[in-house]
Amino acid sequence: MIAIEDHKLVDPEGKIKISFEETPNISGPFPNGLPDTVVIHYTAGSSAKSSAGWLRNPQANASAHLVVGKAGEVIQLAPFNIKTWHAGRSSWKGRVGLNQYSIGIEIDNAGVLVQSPDGYYTHFSKKVEPQNVVIAKHKLDSTEKGWEAYTQQQIEVVEQICLALKQAYPIAEIVGHDDIAPSRKRDPGPAFPMLSLQNRVMIGRNEDLPDEEEPNLLGDAVVVAENLNIRSNPGTEASKVSGPLTKGTKVKVEKTVGEWSYVKIDIEGWVSNQWLRNV
Ligand SMILES: [Zn+2]
Repeated sequence: MIAIEDHKLVDPEGKIKISFEETPNISGPFPNGLPDTVVIHYTAGSSAKSSAGWLRNPQANASAHLVVGKAGEVIQLAPFNIKTWHAGRSSWKGRVGLNQYSIGIEIDNAGVLVQSPDGYYTHFSKKVEPQNVVIAKHKLDSTEKGWEAYTQQQIEVVEQICLALKQAYPIAEIVGHDDIAPSRKRDPGPAFPMLSLQNRVMIGRNEDLPDEEEPNLLGDAVVVAENLNIRSNPGTEASKVSGPLTKGTKVKVEKTVGEWSYVKIDIEGWVSNQWLRNV
C-alpha cells in the first residue's frame, strides 16, 4: 500500500515502482492548510517517461507532482508540499489558479483519439487496439468520440495515491482538469472512472471489514466503474476477452476467487470485485 513520507510517495511493500525525478518548474511551498484538492489529468503523451521528461524541461512551462505510467509505475516530479504548474488558467468553487491549492496527477494516456477508416489513432499517429478504445461522450461535449482506455493498474494506483494524500493532507476534493478548466481542457475525460474514484476516496468504502464480512457478490450485480476490463483469468496480466464492460452493465457473478469474480453476461470472464455491487 502506498504511503507518504517526507512529502514523497513510498511503497513499503515494494510492489509499486516509484521514482523521483525533480522538476525545476515549481513555485515554492504551499501555505498551511494546503493542498486541499487533487486534480487528475491525462498526459496526451506517448509514454510516462517522455511526459515526465517534458514536465522537467524549463521550456515546458508546465509540471505536475506525479506521472502514472500504464503499468502503474509512478514518477514523482516534486514533493507534495511544493506547488507545481499543472492546472493553468482555472477556477473552481470561487477560487482561481488551482495550482495554488492542489496536487496534480498526470496519467499516461493519449486522451481523445482520431478516427480513421481502419480504426482509432492517437494524435501522435499510433494505432490503438480496439479493446483499448472507449467510445464515449465527454460530459461537456455533444458527440461521442474515441478515447484511450486507462489501464486497471493506473486506476488502482491513482486510488491508492489519493487515499495516501488524503491521510497526509487536508484533501477535501478530487476534480478533473476538465472540471476546473472546462473551456479548454477535456482531461481526464470519460474513459476515467472519476465518480468511482471520488466516491471511493472521499466517501470511503468498507475497507475495515474483515474478509469474511465482505459482501458476498454471488448472483446479480452491476458494474460501477465507468469501464471494467473483463479477462480470461483472474489477474491484471490476463488477456481481455472483449472491450470493457460499461457502467451499469448487469452481470451474473458465478464465483469469486480472492479479489476477482467470474461473471456472465452474453460473454463471460473475470473482473475485479471492487467494481461490482450487488443489486
Ligand atoms: Zn490537464
